[in-house]
Amino acid sequence: MCGRGLRLSPDKEDCLLLDFGENFKRLGRIDKKRSISLCPSPPRPSIDTKECPECHAQINVFLRICPECGYVFPPGEKEELEDDFLPEFGELLDDETKEKITYIRSQRKMRFTRKLVPDDLWALWSRRYSDTILCNDWLYQAVFRGDTSIAAQQQFLSYLNSFNPQSSKWVSFHMELEFGQPNRVYKSKSKGRYSPPPVNLNQMNWWELLQVSNSATPEEVKSAYSQLAPTADDNEIKLLNWAYEEFENSTKTKSNKEYVLAEVIDWGDVIAEIDLHLARLGWSVDRAKDYLMRTYGVKSRLYLTDRQIMSFLDYLKAQ
Ligand SMILES: [Zn+2]
Repeated sequence: MCGRGLRLSPDKEDCLLLDFGENFKRLGRIDKKRSISLCPSPPRPSIDTKECPECHAQINVFLRICPECGYVFPPGEKEELEDDFLPEFGELLDDETKEKITYIRSQRKMRFTRKLVPDDLWALWSRRYSDTILCNDWLYQAVFRGDTSIAAQQQFLSYLNSFNPQSSKWVSFHMELEFGQPNRVYKSKSKGRYSPPPVNLNQMNWWELLQVSNSATPEEVKSAYSQLAPTADDNEIKLLNWAYEEFENSTKTKSNKEYVLAEVIDWGDVIAEIDLHLARLGWSVDRAKDYLMRTYGVKSRLYLTDRQIMSFLDYLKAQ
């Protein structure tokens, strides 16, 4: 039906489609790049769309900037993915060990979210659970929970590189901890058994991905994004989003970053103290989540600012 309107013709500049049947919502955008496979069951492309609050266009759900009008979506809360791997480790483990693994996985993720050095995790584990040894396999995909895309790898790589590592061994150790070692078989609920591809340790640059110069203005960056995004597939959009985030981070002042680093000393101890108070008060996970949602509007303490998490601790102490 749309094919006729979309045919190219010398003086034709655009084509207006009126969608009364919510077909874009159901089937996705018609100008979206799709992979067509000759296999009997080709993978279905993601067709999730959202509406732009500014111009009401139906656009790919992953887009950070509306390609139609340039509206920038707020970074917002990332959807908490279900932990895809834990149950697979859990086959031979007792409930107590599973609980410990859940805890240490969330600690690893928290360090990434809050841009803290990842290395004190093993010390934290042995302080808390001196009777068990932390098996590194338990930390596989603790941060990205099943997302092994290039965008996820680049995001983790720039987190690791932000600590100015002296050794590439350190970087590849943490990359393989998160994204797996090649030639090893991993199991997950959704993928079954699989071997991950080798990790890529080459850091990409946001300006190369967006095909602009590294001194581009916000307007130039936004317009480059809007040109590239409409024909990108979901994984490419994730990569563009990462590039855009990197651009945004590059515009933040240095003093701001130093302030953050100064604030986070002994962070693990603050979290451990909160855990102690939660245990003392007998709060269930649901009760804590409910409190965080009501008081701060977030689902998890990973999303609290430094100030908020200190006030949460003060609140617990006072109970
Ligand atoms: Zn728009």
